[in-house]
Amino acid sequence: MLDINLKGKKAFVVGIGDDQGYGFAIAKVLAEAGAEIIIGTWTPIVNIFETAWKNKKFDNSRKLKDGSLFNYSKLYAVDASFDTPQDVPQEIKENKRYVEHSGYTVSEVAKKVEKDFGKIDILVHSLANAPEVTKNLIDTSRKGYLSAIGASAYSLISLISHFGPILNENGSCLALTYMASLKVIPGYGGGMSSAKASLESDIRTLAYEAGRKYKIRINAISAGPLKSRAAKAIGFIDEMINYSKANSPLQKDLEAEEVANSAAFLLSDLASAVTGDILYVDNGMNIMGMAMDSNSLNRNKS
Ligand code: NAD
Repeated sequence: MLDINLKGKKAFVVGIGDDQGYGFAIAKVLAEAGAEIIIGTWTPIVNIFETAWKNKKFDNSRKLKDGSLFNYSKLYAVDASFDTPQDVPQEIKENKRYVEHSGYTVSEVAKKVEKDFGKIDILVHSLANAPEVTKNLIDTSRKGYLSAIGASAYSLISLISHFGPILNENGSCLALTYMASLKVIPGYGGGMSSAKASLESDIRTLAYEAGRKYKIRINAISAGPLKSRAAKAIGFIDEMINYSKANSPLQKDLEAEEVANSAAFLLSDLASAVTGDILYVDNGMNIMGMAMDSNSLNRNKS
């Protein structure tokens, strides 16, 4: 029987803030496959996440196939918009949600993870942020656009740059992207479509550079819509999910676990020759060139 076996592997999954998103689902499937899980949570929501975890709010979603609960070894506060302590503006340092945390920039977290765990095998980038996501691109400010690119695309470069040296040879990295990089999704704004285009291009260049430098692989999954906390901020996630279900070849709901299972494959040695790739896990939505629920298709009926 061919199995995905990640026993003995250490995985750092960045971008888990609750049990509704792709990061949580991926961490859980990696744990199911035997990996040790280390979590990176956005600094301002660390306390909310830890309290919810302690209060058993996620226990239903944590259930593994053998009935035990998925656990992580350690959680680090991370703000992937900052690379070094010098990058953190004073008002952020003094913000009440940051003030009790320290060492949350990418370079500092990499040092902490190395000190606590030594080398790791798997790195997952499951984060995105655009302060002006509800604005059309044409109305997005320069500041909002650059912030989206910084948090959602450059953050991957920073992670690979600082974690590359502590990834074991044959290690594997994964980011999550969305087809708004290539096709127009009206309303997916604030520069998020641009950030995903950058991310996908960077996946290829980073796969080449880090492949040569560290002998690690880097891929992305272009996932279909999921009602996560981040997606709700876009403002029309229910419509995106309905549209995808009505028009995709498979015409079914997309479960986070389906994306996570594909992630487990890409992050395992079964994908040892796959790098720089974007794998669509979206019920096939991306191949469609026609909206099958469009009123105009009814013109010859009646
Ligand atoms: P999510 O809310 O579970 O995950 C996004 C996480 O990013 C949150 O935990 C948030 O706290 C974190 N984050 C934001 N800014 C950060 C920063 N500066 N530093 C560190 N963490 C930060 O939502 P999700 O939809 O599962 O998003 C995960 C990834 O999946 C994102 O890259 C997203 O674009 C991608 N994706 C989502 C969908 C969807 O429909 N939900 C579709 C395709 C791709």
